[in-house]
Amino acid sequence: QAGALGDTLGVPVYAVGGFVRDLLLGRTNLDLDIVVESDGIAFARELARALKGRVRAHTKFKTAVVIFSNESGEEERIDVATARLEYYEYPAALPTVELSSIKMDLFRRDFTINAQAVQLNKGHFGRLIDFFGAQRDMKDKVLRVLHSLSFVEDPTRILRAIRFEKRFDFQIGQQTTRLIKNALQLELIEKLSGRRIFHELEAVLKETNPLNCLHRMDELDVLRRISPHLRITPTKNQVLEELENVIKWYRLLYLDDSPEPWMLYLLGLLMGCAYPEVKEVARRLSLSRRQEEDLQDVRELSHKCLGLLQQWVAGERTMSGLYCILSPMRTEGLLYLMARTKTDDIRRHISYYLTHLRKISLDIGGDDLRNMGADPSPVYARVLSRVLGAKLDGNVPTRKEQLEFAFS
Ligand code: ATP
Repeated sequence: QAGALGDTLGVPVYAVGGFVRDLLLGRTNLDLDIVVESDGIAFARELARALKGRVRAHTKFKTAVVIFSNESGEEERIDVATARLEYYEYPAALPTVELSSIKMDLFRRDFTINAQAVQLNKGHFGRLIDFFGAQRDMKDKVLRVLHSLSFVEDPTRILRAIRFEKRFDFQIGQQTTRLIKNALQLELIEKLSGRRIFHELEAVLKETNPLNCLHRMDELDVLRRISPHLRITPTKNQVLEELENVIKWYRLLYLDDSPEPWMLYLLGLLMGCAYPEVKEVARRLSLSRRQEEDLQDVRELSHKCLGLLQQWVAGERTMSGLYCILSPMRTEGLLYLMARTKTDDIRRHISYYLTHLRKISLDIGGDDLRNMGADPSPVYARVLSRVLGAKLDGNVPTRKEQLEFAFS
């Protein structure tokens, strides 16, 4: 549709960036980014009309998002950007050189593999545009920046480089590695805002195997430069490895529940740190007050829980007791506990809580108590929680037995 519209309007249209890279690497990518060599916002409005969608425009950046429903009724988005014709002022007597606007657009990008375009207009449909040797780099599995000031221009590209290197199993090129090391020596990571670092770190931690990226970040000294408290010690490493396994196990079981990767991995990375050190890291990453509180709470609670679990395994081991210990904890904390504990027995029981116990609910509710003439409100909660305890311990499996127990 975009190509046909480009033909109608007489405008060159290209798919660019990650979409093209993934297409060439044979990987699925549903985020279509297009660039037009004309007014991107006007183009997006026309495209939205053709797709019966709507447009969200960012006038300042001359970009827009077209949001529409596909044939299956799911919401899809296409990002549209404007490639502007710009001029490079060359020093002294050299003439001003006009680069084609798509070339300028691609030149501003991070790595060669992300700086390719595919034309979408009918007459040139599928024409690959590769000005910077991306094809060769893809063949050699090398990640390369486009020019030597790339990391100075935007130091977050250091984290992006690590993320793509590990995701695609590429190697950061020799010269690019040298440029990263120079940028680190210039303390460019230290100068980045917390928000930008956290944004990139979140992206790293959402990868399928974030630990590979964290190791590489540690090796290149990036973690220490974000905060010395994040360095990976052998003890942390053991827990992080366990954590990655536990997260994969959980995601396979519960595809629709997605615990927050940033919290999970920060719990591992901050293991052994004291409250003020965690606070320091939270400040460095510009975590919101809510995020920081959640993180500190989970840490504190998991510490308490471990102690209680150790007592529980040595005691009567009732299911209601286990429920009582684990139910105040959010999923991230439970997975962290599973990774942290050295006791198989405890790990098995947390897993049993996650897969069975926490789903158990009563067959009766407050209405049943009211209908049977019980006094209202606050008492209900206490009674129902006792009944739940009894059900967890297998004593009152049916609705009838639960009602009897409630009034006993
Ligand atoms: P992912 O699969 O992780 O989404 P992506 O390459 O699509 O990868 P985006 O962050 O959505 O990642 O970026 C889209 C494109 O924008 C990139 O392919 C790249 O061309 C360009 N880009 C993104 N961030 C930067 C940056 N910091 N510097 C230069 N170009 C960037």
